[in-house]
Amino acid sequence: MKLYHLRSGPLRVNTYFLVNELNQAVVIDSGENYKKVKQVESECGFKIEAVLLTHAHFDHAGNAKKLQDDGAKIYISELDAPKLLNEQNLSSDFGREFDYLTADYTIVDGQTLNVCGIDIKVIATPGHTDGSVCFLVGNMLFTGDTLFLESVGRTDFITGDRNELVKSVKKLFALDGEYTVYPGHEDFTTLSHERKYNAFVDYD
Ligand SMILES: [Zn+2]
Repeated sequence: MKLYHLRSGPLRVNTYFLVNELNQAVVIDSGENYKKVKQVESECGFKIEAVLLTHAHFDHAGNAKKLQDDGAKIYISELDAPKLLNEQNLSSDFGREFDYLTADYTIVDGQTLNVCGIDIKVIATPGHTDGSVCFLVGNMLFTGDTLFLESVGRTDFITGDRNELVKSVKKLFALDGEYTVYPGHEDFTTLSHERKYNAFVDYD
């Protein structure tokens, strides 16, 4: 399996492409910029079969409908799925266009998905939104807007909850072993770095 990365859109969202031996790609957070995602797809020679969303905010999910129309299956938590159809994706607050969509699959905490032969564990991490999740793939942890390099996600948006976020971050810190952390914005990090240096390690 190969991992490709794209940072795009006005909010510089990280899109990740997990590509198997058959050049089938599972995308984590497709972002807003459809053209750039399609450009990566054609330049790297894979086909996007699925899009997994860490949460429904427009900057992570804004182009999901177009990718769905191209044949990709869309996965999101059952709590955030309705936000793909209402204003809780924040697109109107930010003056961004959003093509509403109904996800193909809803996912829940603890579930292990097998998509294109890739095992992906779902970890519910409410706080940034009530339905935010992280995805665990081998030693890679995709954290959306829950955990960033030495920081955590905002909790002042609708369905956000600071106490829940603190619990979720601690849940990630408590995972056994070492993981590379691939967040929804900004730079990559590792879980051991965050266990040491993230300001929220001692937050109570
Ligand atoms: Zn967000």
